[in-house]
Amino acid sequence: MDATIGIIGGSGLYSLIDNADDVAVETKYGKPSDVISIGTLAGVKVAFLPRHAKKHTIPPHKVPYRANIAALSQLGVNRIIATNAVGSLKPEYKPGFLALFDQFVNATSGRNDTFFDEDIAVHVSSADPYCPQLRNIASVAARKAGIPIHETGTVVVINGPRFSSKAESRTFAAQGHHMINMSQYPEIMLAREKQMCYLGVALITDYDAGLEGRLDIKPVTNDEVVRIFGENVDKAKRIITEVIKNTPQERTCSCSKSLEGALMTKK
Ligand SMILES: [Zn+2]
Repeated sequence: MDATIGIIGGSGLYSLIDNADDVAVETKYGKPSDVISIGTLAGVKVAFLPRHAKKHTIPPHKVPYRANIAALSQLGVNRIIATNAVGSLKPEYKPGFLALFDQFVNATSGRNDTFFDEDIAVHVSSADPYCPQLRNIASVAARKAGIPIHETGTVVVINGPRFSSKAESRTFAAQGHHMINMSQYPEIMLAREKQMCYLGVALITDYDAGLEGRLDIKPVTNDEVVRIFGENVDKAKRIITEVIKNTPQERTCSCSKSLEGALMTKK
C-alpha cells in the first residue's frame, strides 16, 4: 500500500517515524530536499521529507519546493501534514504555543510557485488553501490532549533568510497577520495544485522583531528560536500522531477538486 500521508518536517522533526526505508526520488523539477523516508507512524504508512534536508543545509529561500511536492505526489501522497517554525505578530500568539494556519499572505519573491508554467493557463483558487477536514481533526486532538493551540491564523511568508526589521514587523502586524515565516509559501499552493490536502502546524518560537509598546518583548535571536522550538517539538509530534490516528481514509473536503474549473486553456 502506498503512503498517502506525507509529513514535511521543519527544523527538529527529523526522527518521527519507525522502520523507515529511505527512497531517493527524481522529479521533473530536480531532486527534493533529501531522501524521503517511508515508514510507519501510529501504525499508518507515511512518507517523511525534511524540508531543509536532514543536516539542515537548505535555507528557506533555496528549498526545492516544486521537487518536494512533486516527489511526494509521485509516491502517492494525497495529504500533507507540515510543520513550520513561526514568529508571532500578536501578543496572544505566545511563544511555546502551536497554531494551525488557515490563511497565508505571500511576501516572497522570485520563487517558482506553480507547476503550470508551460503552455497552459490554470488559475487555481487559493481562497481557502488549507484543508478544513485535517484542521478540524488537529483542533480536536489538541483540545483533548490539553495542548495550547490557536485553531486558525494567517501567516505572512517572507523570503528570508534574514529576520524582519522592526518597521517590517510592525507593518505586518498592522495588516492584521498573526504569524511570520519563511517557508510556508509556495509549498502550500503547490500542494493545492496537486489537489492534496494540506495541514500547516505552526510552532511559535518568538515575537519576531518584538512587539510595539512592549519593551519586555525583545527582538528574535536564532538561539531563542532554537531553544523554544526544541520545547515545542514534542507537542507537535503528539498532534501529528493524533491526526494520523484519527484521519479516515475518505477525504470529505473539496481539496481533491481544487483544479475543477481552474483550466483556461482550450484543449
Ligand atoms: Zn482536504
